[in-house]
Amino acid sequence: MEELTVGGRDMEAGAHQRIRAEHLERSAYLYVRQSSLRQVIENTESTQRQYALRERAIALGWKEDQVVTIDCDLGQSGASAENREGFQRLVAEVGLGHAGIVMGLEVSRLARRSSDWHRLLEICALTRTLLLDEDGLYDPSQFNDKTLLGLKGNFSETELHYIRMRLQGGLQNKASRGELRIRLPVGFAYDPRDRVVLMPEKQVQESIRLLFKTFDRVGNPHAVVRYFRDQGLKFPQLLHAGPSKGDILWRNPSRNRVKEVLKNPRYAGAFAYGRRTQQGATRNGKPVLVTLPREKWHAFLPGVHAGYISLEEYERNLRRLTENSGRKRWRLPAREGPALLQGITVCARCGSRMTVRYHFRRGKVNPDYVCQGPQRGRGDPVCQSIPGDGIDEFVGKLLVDLVKPVGLEVALAVQAELEKRSEEADKLRFRAVERAQYEVDLARRRYMQVDPDNRLVADQLEAEWNARLRGLRESRDEYERAREVDQLAMDDEKKARIRALASDFPALWRNPKTPYRERKRMVRLLIEDVTLRKDDEISLNVRFKGGAVRSFLIPRLRASWEERRTPPEVVAQIDRLLDDHTEGEIAEILNEQGLVSGWGRSFDGRRVRVTRRLYKVRSRYTRLREAGFLKLEEAAKKLGICKWVVKERRAQGTLPVEVRKLNDMGEYMYKDPGWKDR
Ligand SMILES: [Zn+2]
Repeated sequence: MEELTVGGRDMEAGAHQRIRAEHLERSAYLYVRQSSLRQVIENTESTQRQYALRERAIALGWKEDQVVTIDCDLGQSGASAENREGFQRLVAEVGLGHAGIVMGLEVSRLARRSSDWHRLLEICALTRTLLLDEDGLYDPSQFNDKTLLGLKGNFSETELHYIRMRLQGGLQNKASRGELRIRLPVGFAYDPRDRVVLMPEKQVQESIRLLFKTFDRVGNPHAVVRYFRDQGLKFPQLLHAGPSKGDILWRNPSRNRVKEVLKNPRYAGAFAYGRRTQQGATRNGKPVLVTLPREKWHAFLPGVHAGYISLEEYERNLRRLTENSGRKRWRLPAREGPALLQGITVCARCGSRMTVRYHFRRGKVNPDYVCQGPQRGRGDPVCQSIPGDGIDEFVGKLLVDLVKPVGLEVALAVQAELEKRSEEADKLRFRAVERAQYEVDLARRRYMQVDPDNRLVADQLEAEWNARLRGLRESRDEYERAREVDQLAMDDEKKARIRALASDFPALWRNPKTPYRERKRMVRLLIEDVTLRKDDEISLNVRFKGGAVRSFLIPRLRASWEERRTPPEVVAQIDRLLDDHTEGEIAEILNEQGLVSGWGRSFDGRRVRVTRRLYKVRSRYTRLREAGFLKLEEAAKKLGICKWVVKERRAQGTLPVEVRKLNDMGEYMYKDPGWKDR
């Protein structure tokens, strides 16, 4: 053990025994690391110390061009080697036997996690690579040096561990006593003796009281938001970070914000800690927080400080919030249901949002889009109710047609959405710049007003003015940087989303296995809302994301026998045959060909007529008319004889004009090329 305590400078004394020709033939690697960008900027001194090691290597016998600096990990945390390219490279170089010596400040901190450290140590031992830090020179292939280095690495890790534990333990003990000084929600402040008091600003207090009063009256967060908006009222928000930290921002409250305030027990004067816990992390490493049930909170101490509402009121608000969400689920039973346009249909008669009702018909769930009118829920008859089947099918086809060729429209929509989002963030960030500008102006005015003879004060004010200018420049730079990042992110995200949509959409849509909720999600991505009106036909006004509007008319499917669609080839056949045949004749032809209606039945004249009307096929009368044929009365007039003579001569076949059968009731139409001229 005695030998182990040696080390340090004493080892330096033995440096020359450790360094052999085989070491000097290989390169010297200088590993430079700082754990955060902030440290890189603030702690240039330690960076300089790291580079000074380079001089030591040269002093020990390496040539200048043999020293390789690895510093690409600047700005990366040392907690794991995974993301640190530089460290990985170092390990690789050592493993390949390229390194004669590895240098770093406190070599154990080369890798802060001891598994990484021990790995490096093993490899250094195998390849007979030396290690150098400010404390001394080590040869890991020698027992003593290796033990010492191992201890150094272990200490580094346990040290981190204990610091973390100490902090957490201390926090939790304090929290249990309700003494922990943690971030307060808006409306509270710490007094000079660290007690929680109401924020002195009257406007803040009143806004918070108004929020609770309004919720008491209207009973749901959405209505609170609407009330604030209608009254042009804003709600305070405390800035927790950035140059304007601690400032209050006045914004329109969102529904989530209202819920947050209602759910926060501090407004009832209770101290709470550990309401949320981390559950995994996003891909970017941001922690994902989930709210725990109250019995799992670390601390909940009612009546610790002044509040805006009583604990009873707080509990009542929570109950109402859960009741609300419960009722909503009941009213919209079918998030998983098949109604494609659920939640985005608007009634064209009265402008209300329409709801979905499902009913079973012939073993199938059918949606109806129902408007209960502006007086909804008061027992009035519904405003209009529209069978949803045909509409959903139509919208589905519309989207498939649209997404392929009109990818541009989708692109614009998505872009607009993203732009709006980043604009909002941008606006907020710009506040910081405005504030800095304001402070510069203030400092400049103060400087201008001072008596120039009063040198001491003038100099001080000038210095302050300069400092403010620097602050302004910094916040401008920060703003520009954030903006650039925003723009880049937007481009990539946008492109990816559009590419994915344009290529996958039709296939995904047609796949019968695609669940309803996915279809609905796709619809919502593309369509803002659909306005519906039921008259003789159903009119659809589709508003796409991004503002494009298209209107359509689709046939209203009235009776049940009309709901089954006639195969399109049958409709086409009817269309073709109408040029030369009556509906009765067509029925016979179709039956001969073995074609059937949508219900699988054979045709008669009436069914052909109904089908023709339903699918908007031009009638035989219209066709004959367009071809120049006249009705009996008109023909009689042109021929200068009376109607019954026309009929008789037609029956005899002695009428000198062209004759066509109009229908199966014995009506005909007549045409003579000469008639046109007269
Ligand atoms: Zn309506």
